[in-house]
Amino acid sequence: MQKILNFCFEIKFYLKIGIACTIVQQIFYFLLNNIESNFITQVLLYWLVGSISFYSIGILIEKGIKTNDVLRDKLTARVNKVRNQPFPSFSLKGIIIGEIKAFLSALIILYLAPEVHRGNSLLLNFGWFLMRIVTADFCFYVAHWLLHTRFLQKIHLKHHEFRDSSSFVAGHKSFVEYIIVTLTDVLPIFIFGYDITQLSAWSVIGNAYNLEGHSSLSIFFIPSDFHDLHHTCFNGNYGIQGFWDRVFNTLNPPTKKPGIMFPVSLIEYITIKSPISNDTKNT
Ligand SMILES: [Zn+2]
Ligand SMILES: [Zn+2]
Repeated sequence: MQKILNFCFEIKFYLKIGIACTIVQQIFYFLLNNIESNFITQVLLYWLVGSISFYSIGILIEKGIKTNDVLRDKLTARVNKVRNQPFPSFSLKGIIIGEIKAFLSALIILYLAPEVHRGNSLLLNFGWFLMRIVTADFCFYVAHWLLHTRFLQKIHLKHHEFRDSSSFVAGHKSFVEYIIVTLTDVLPIFIFGYDITQLSAWSVIGNAYNLEGHSSLSIFFIPSDFHDLHHTCFNGNYGIQGFWDRVFNTLNPPTKKPGIMFPVSLIEYITIKSPISNDTKNT
């Protein structure tokens, strides 16, 4: 029973990503369908969608949700005590360098990957996004696990400067790590080609779950303190979510929050009486 519930809990994350990406893709399809776009407009679009969503979602979490005491208490996923750390404030130089990196990667990715048009079929798009999130999770798991080995750890230590975590820690990484993580994320589109509407949707939702995963809150996609535990304990929980960590036995069991789509953790609580995070003390 526990195994089935765990499986449902992790599959739920994939389904949420698949559905959310499909909805956002439909919006992009509707907006872009009648517009003739060339290579450079696609690069600009991809870059701007990524950057605008990154900053706006991050600011919404940090300056919106976290400043509201009721929401913050309700959504906090953190269970382990963490020493509060100051986070670096944005500098103009940092933002400009970040945007140059993002623009160049958009340019290189779209230049190298072949373009395909996948249309607006709901089923086809949902299947594609489901395949992409499971693949991205696996590729990230392998790369992240390797970055924790003795030989490659140096590349990854910048990201771990923060044990306390906040949304924008998602973007705090060394240049080499940025390249590795970007590569693991876009691998399927080098093989299967890119559709700009799918790519833009993926970029928005990718930013959303990445920022949420670092925010110490459980808002929609991440119903646990999964990545929070990775930052506080340093080892274990190498994936985006627990699926591959469970497969490869590296899971540091997260505290599950009651879910939005399927009440997996609630069923678990009722049937097995395992704790849900509402019962635990937030710090
Ligand atoms: Zn790590
Ligand atoms: Zn992290």
